[in-house]
Amino acid sequence: MNFESFGLTPALLKELANQNYTEPYPIQKEAIPAILNKKDILGIAPTGSGKTASYVLPILTNLQGNLDTKNRNVNVLVLVPTRELALQVREVFRSFGAVLPERVKSIAVYGGVSINPQMKSLFGVNILVATPGRLLELVELNAVHLSKIDTLVLDEADKMLNLGFQKEINNILGLLPTHRQNLLFSATLSEDVKSINELLLHNPTVIKIEEKTNNIDLINQLAYIIPEEKKGPLLRYLIKSRGLKQVLVFTSSVYKADNVADKLRKNGIDATAIHSKKSQGARTDALGRFKSGKLKVLVTTDLLSRGIDIEYLPYVINYELPRSPKDYVHRIGRTGRAENRGEAIAFITEEDQHHFKIIQKKMGKWVTKINADEIDLVGY
Ligand code: AMP
Repeated sequence: MNFESFGLTPALLKELANQNYTEPYPIQKEAIPAILNKKDILGIAPTGSGKTASYVLPILTNLQGNLDTKNRNVNVLVLVPTRELALQVREVFRSFGAVLPERVKSIAVYGGVSINPQMKSLFGVNILVATPGRLLELVELNAVHLSKIDTLVLDEADKMLNLGFQKEINNILGLLPTHRQNLLFSATLSEDVKSINELLLHNPTVIKIEEKTNNIDLINQLAYIIPEEKKGPLLRYLIKSRGLKQVLVFTSSVYKADNVADKLRKNGIDATAIHSKKSQGARTDALGRFKSGKLKVLVTTDLLSRGIDIEYLPYVINYELPRSPKDYVHRIGRTGRAENRGEAIAFITEEDQHHFKIIQKKMGKWVTKINADEIDLVGY
């Protein structure tokens, strides 16, 4: 099966070739025909499975000839948990939408930035990608009307619920017309997601894509047993002595992320922290510099462990372990993607040892441990 067989708009086929999409991914093979047929979808699929294109391409095709532009009605609403995912999804709509004969306007709106420019740019929008809270603020201000929505997408529904957006989602659902297409994507099928599924979907096409099991085999994992106070020197030692570039460092708190980045900079290593307390501008800028290889170290909290697609990321360092084994796998999953071999390094204190055992058991992999006592950290 190839992209030509689906009945997508011809301009999109050309752009797919342009963007080196040679063959549809499994989720795309199932979702594209169903969405073109106006079916509801329940897609259980992890990040990296190609789920974004699986809904963007048929939605753009369905919209051709059905565009409503000179007002504040929106045709397609995509709800996402984070600003980063909003920008990323919008970028996929923009890049494919740009080649269509009929102009499609898409924008992303999210909190943490000034609302005025978003209000102004909402005129004539066909596709709105939004985080739930900011969307409701914009509705309240009458900047956007949701009563003409044809298609609703909930992307990373599990993450949205984990972040506590249940109430906002319910409020938004109450503003939509009853007759519409619903597409629900989630990495996991938790009880919460099941309840939204029952509330939302009509006789959906169910698509389940397993997390690529071999993904984790692509990652070289290593753990250092290290006392808390020596983690900073060990991090600097690893980065400097091995000349590491594009290192993503995870901490458990915003405070710690700032602290680790500060110390790296004081020691002459180019590092920036991004987390929920940073402005959107600062986050976008840091992420852009990091992706392009200009920024050596990005320190972050679990904000970034899902959803953001950074290709070819060579190193992930767990400065502190996450509580959930799933989050650990998501964090290190940044490295073993697109058939590229990456390295994941965990810093483990004595107190972490038991928890790390649980993580390894859940992951089904045992990680080589090195006692950092054996490393001479003097001068780092
Ligand atoms: P997603 O799961 O939507 O975040 O997509 C993961 C990555 O795969 C993105 O970088 C996409 O550009 C890329 N991608 C999606 N579908 C295909 C395809 N059929 N062929 C090649 N790359 C793809």
